[in-house]
Amino acid sequence: RAEAARRAAFRPAVTQDGHRVEVAANVRGPEEAAEAVAAGAEGSGLVRSEFLFDDRAEPPSEEEQFGLYRRLAEGFGGLPVVLRTLDAGGDKPLRFVNHPAEANPFLGLRGLRLSLAEPALFRAQIRAALRAARHGDIRVMLPMVDGLADLRAARDLIEKERLSLATPPVEVGIMVEVPSAAVMADQLAREADFFSIGTNDLTQYALAVDRLHPTLGARSDALDPAVLRLIQMTVQAAHARGRWVGVCGNMAADPMAAPILVGLGVDELSVSIPNVAALKAQIRALSMARAEAVAREALNCATAAEVRALPALRALGGA
Ligand code: PEP
Ligand code: MG
Repeated sequence: RAEAARRAAFRPAVTQDGHRVEVAANVRGPEEAAEAVAAGAEGSGLVRSEFLFDDRAEPPSEEEQFGLYRRLAEGFGGLPVVLRTLDAGGDKPLRFVNHPAEANPFLGLRGLRLSLAEPALFRAQIRAALRAARHGDIRVMLPMVDGLADLRAARDLIEKERLSLATPPVEVGIMVEVPSAAVMADQLAREADFFSIGTNDLTQYALAVDRLHPTLGARSDALDPAVLRLIQMTVQAAHARGRWVGVCGNMAADPMAAPILVGLGVDELSVSIPNVAALKAQIRALSMARAEAVAREALNCATAAEVRALPALRALGGA
């Protein structure tokens, strides 16, 4: 029994009608790589590199980062590893960066904005990632991209470092988690190699509800049709340019959300390690035709509650 379950976890997630969805794991560091692979993850769709920077008086050196990213690349044994550059600021302040006080840190210097404001910090991380990419399939993902200007600035810096290191090109993608990025996805898809939708922040910013709010939690549901429409725009824009799209927010692990995301054409879902096997099993039981039909129904609902009450979705989501 345990052996059969283990073998099933390693099989790809292919729907009844032959549509493959990649299932990857969100990890925080190299110690989780072996566990993710053993759970059946087909790579990592999100490495939260903040683990290296949290609670430190000094930033980690390029050398220290290189060692960790190399272990990550090797731990995944050549499977794709999407390394997200430092996503600090907002709810995740850094001790060694002198942040100006901000009245609204979630609307302030966070994510890629912070990296571009601290180029020495960003350069060290990029150089470590580029060097580690020689040891596996490392891809670089930029968090909190709000538009093309910052994407271009980041890509320029990455290309300069790559030329100085003489390392091979790596894919450079973006998180789509700011509504402006979803709206401008057609433009961004020209210059980003892939998208990964961060539904935690995308929901927060689209619905104007703090993701950590103590009492408004029930209003911030990623199944809100407003969020689903932003996801649909993002997927359509990416596919029109031949780019792949993942979802790495918590939504990907919600059994009620998976059929909709698959039906909207999302290519990859990245979830925490304990959710990998169940998500693969759920996808294998779906048909793409039914998932597309339920996604269309969901896009036409008025509220998240209506989406969650759809009989066709409840049947596919196991409710
Ligand atoms: C997200 O915003 O959905 C996401 C995956 O990033 P984080 O939760 O780290 O902000
Ligand atoms: Mg986020």
